[in-house]
Amino acid sequence: MTKKDFNELEALLKSKPKNIIITTHVNPDGDAIGSSLGLYHVLKKAGHNALVIVPNNYPDFLKWLPGNDTVLIYESDEDICQDHFETADIIFCLDYNGLSRIDKLETPVAKSKALKVMIDHHPEPEDFVDYTYSYTKASSTAELIYQFIEECDLINHLDADSAPALYTGIMTDTGSFRFPSTSALTHRITANLIDAGANNSEIHNNIYDTSSPNRMKLLGISLDTMQVLTDYNTAYIALSDEQLKNNGFKKGDTEGFVNYCLAIEGIVFAAFFRQDNDRIKISFRSKGDFSVNKFSRNHFNGGGHTNAAGGIAYGSLKETLDKFVSLLPEYKKELTK
Ligand code: 5GP
Ligand code: MN
Repeated sequence: MTKKDFNELEALLKSKPKNIIITTHVNPDGDAIGSSLGLYHVLKKAGHNALVIVPNNYPDFLKWLPGNDTVLIYESDEDICQDHFETADIIFCLDYNGLSRIDKLETPVAKSKALKVMIDHHPEPEDFVDYTYSYTKASSTAELIYQFIEECDLINHLDADSAPALYTGIMTDTGSFRFPSTSALTHRITANLIDAGANNSEIHNNIYDTSSPNRMKLLGISLDTMQVLTDYNTAYIALSDEQLKNNGFKKGDTEGFVNYCLAIEGIVFAAFFRQDNDRIKISFRSKGDFSVNKFSRNHFNGGGHTNAAGGIAYGSLKETLDKFVSLLPEYKKELTK
């Protein structure tokens, strides 16, 4: 964002009150909800009428966050959401950089005459907003929200409501501060969030230590059936509809499972496949410079970051796995260098 643009936006956020809608991507994760609720509290405390609208529901382990009860889910409350879009002055687009990432929210966001502000860290942002605050090197959108509110002179509104949300976003997107995107600045911002009221130990507990026994059973099956293809430094896990149903699968239960593939020495490419009725939801992860963003864009209708991406396949689980395995020889050089 250029300085001139930024000054205009900063002035707008200082003239109040504005009707502000904060949106984020479909199947919201910790960074999506954390950055949205973090910004929400800061804008509310600065005097604005702020509101978070998400395309669809999100996992229960994110629902303890302050302000969770105010979040509107477009899929369940379309009419109410529509009314808010009619009167919005500003729309924030957080943790996504293309309209196809917001599912049914695409039409109201695209049609709205409100000023649109993207704050995001994914590569190759699309041009559908008025202001782009996009830094692909940032660990998370939550880290960018912290910098944004600091630059907009709103940091004095950071408190025990917003700090836990931003901490959650940073913690979940950095794999608890271990991915290479975690910088010294990430830690400095995180320290400031703890000072502002984020209880790090409690947040870790709320996110990672609230699993159901069923989730643990699914993890057991996943580890037991993991396929390791040493010729390609690749490992993958696949869960069928039946395995999911038999173990009472709930949204979010399989979050993080893909990372267990990367825990094996030498593995640089990991995939997790989950059957979801007529489609297969896929998570890709990598270590080093093998781009799962490109791999997913090229073969599985998705995208994301270099080391973390999602995708989707239409067809049976077997067909999808066969396709995945058959693609690996093409990438052998990159995967084994
Ligand atoms: P996950 O595997 O956790 O669903 O997603 C990993 C990363 O890839 C996240 O940053 C997420 O926003 C992004 N991502 C997931 N699915 C898609 C997709 O279908 N398209 C694009 N462009 N990005 C995705
Ligand atoms: Mn993110």
